[in-house]
Amino acid sequence: QSEDSRHKFRLQNTFAEQQSSEFAALENATFVTLARNSDLLGLMNTIRSVEDRFNNRYHYDWVFLNNEPFTEEFVKVSSSLVSGQARYGVIGLDHWSYPDWINRTAAAEVRNKMRNAGIIYGDSESYRHMCRYESGFFYHHPLMREYKYYWRVEPDTLLHCDIDYDVFKYMREEKKKYGFTIALREYISTIESLWDVTRQYLSHVPDALNSNSLLEFISDDYGVTYNLCHFWTNFEIADMDFWRAPPYQDYFDFLDKAGGFFYERWGDAPVHSIAASLFLDKKEIHFFDDIGYTHPPFTHCPMNPIERGLTCSCLPTQNFDWQSYSCTRQFYKAQNMPLPDNIPNA
Ligand code: GDP
Ligand code: MN
Repeated sequence: QSEDSRHKFRLQNTFAEQQSSEFAALENATFVTLARNSDLLGLMNTIRSVEDRFNNRYHYDWVFLNNEPFTEEFVKVSSSLVSGQARYGVIGLDHWSYPDWINRTAAAEVRNKMRNAGIIYGDSESYRHMCRYESGFFYHHPLMREYKYYWRVEPDTLLHCDIDYDVFKYMREEKKKYGFTIALREYISTIESLWDVTRQYLSHVPDALNSNSLLEFISDDYGVTYNLCHFWTNFEIADMDFWRAPPYQDYFDFLDKAGGFFYERWGDAPVHSIAASLFLDKKEIHFFDDIGYTHPPFTHCPMNPIERGLTCSCLPTQNFDWQSYSCTRQFYKAQNMPLPDNIPNA
């Protein structure tokens, strides 16, 4: 088969899809991956699995972001795997460097202390820039500004089940603003003052707290303390208009001024999760139970997949949801959802 005839076939195929009534209009949405050039190898199987399980029927765009220019190899390989338009953006220094109110000597001392204490990524400067970027800036990138919804994808992750509906359309039609697959507990040593600073913010802006919030997911005592539960943000399907507007943008600015992204090691996961749990209506937060997903070392695998008509390449015994370190139980409770039948005791 010549290049030319293959190209023709593709065009005809696309045309046929557009003619069919099943081919609905795309949502204003994109995949987004923050990655280093060295992440390419870990990304190839990931992109392939997202395409095979979902995107080969929709062809959504995929935005790749990096604090350094992507190499030609990265662009060539990743764009060949994406069925939608692959787009590449460099992150400006204004979003990936120290703000002027941060004392870099003090920040370096913290990294040293955390290294000696053996705190995961505690000694890493780049990890802190990454967490701050994912908390406060990715949705402002000029490429991301063009979209409303995103699905965040990280290297070395996999999807396990066919997704036979448009998840972005689901988000819009069901008025969802935040979707996750895995929830778990954060290491307290990385966010020691985050809850105090959050409470300070709330005392300045009490109206920010939603009257039907998911507070019970993140606190077991009505907000006195944080129970460390958070959505694992390496997977997110969400509405960026939530991040772009107050109260979230104000909340992020307040956190940023407090300095904990550098003086501690605040992750974007607790930051996003606390914000979603406080500022959104709990009905706007969705557990994508039907999306089998692994980010090592944890897997979410739907229970009773065959009975539910799901085509999965994971086993429910791999499921992390009901293990003691998981917070999926807390989510069900906070949503007043009955726990599924036959969950294993943890
Ligand atoms: P973990 O999942 O918390 O262990 O952290 P990862 O190493 O997976 O990093 C989270 C995400 O940020 C992944 O998508 C990485 O590719 C990306 N990332 C981490 N550090 C950097 C960095 O310094 N530069 C860029 N461009 N991406 C990064
Ligand atoms: Mn990761």
